[in-house]
Amino acid sequence: MNERAQKALENLLEGNKNFINGENKAVHRKVDDLKSLQNGQSPIACVVTCSDSRVIPELVFDKGFGDIFVVRCAGAVIGENILESVEYAVDHLKVPLVMVLSHDDCGVMKAAKALYPKEPDHLELLMRSVYEIIDSETECYNELAKNYTLTKKRKLLKRSKILRQAHHDGKFEIVRAYLKFDTGEVSIVED
Ligand SMILES: [Zn+2]
Repeated sequence: MNERAQKALENLLEGNKNFINGENKAVHRKVDDLKSLQNGQSPIACVVTCSDSRVIPELVFDKGFGDIFVVRCAGAVIGENILESVEYAVDHLKVPLVMVLSHDDCGVMKAAKALYPKEPDHLELLMRSVYEIIDSETECYNELAKNYTLTKKRKLLKRSKILRQAHHDGKFEIVRAYLKFDTGEVSIVED
């Protein structure tokens, strides 16, 4: 991992430690912080995660205005809009790190696990996307959520030429991570 990516990751995990220990520094959360950013932003990382109301990257990483570029949709399923948003973060904002963050008790994973292998009659794109890695052996939807981050990582690189090239050129790294609700801890999921 290159130095900028490593620093960004350490910064996020350090912030998560503050959060877990109840020692949030809550930096960059004043109106003056926002004011200082009115002509531009240079976030340290892009976090791709779920829309779940319990997953708030700025809180769990103890961050504020301008710190992280967050891309969210239910299940953090990688579709076209998500891809282009990550491309924007990497190509225009030059973030050195993209974190794909999944979490406990994800409604999308739970629904897919319950429905599989039936044809989905709602949330079709979300369900089909998770179905790709599900089988009747899949036991726990939290495990599914964790494993699914690998699919997301691969999709980001496979489906975007811009990301593939930038990754190949060492301009950014992708890490997989998982948020546990009982502790608030974000842990890195190894490939
Ligand atoms: Zn979720």
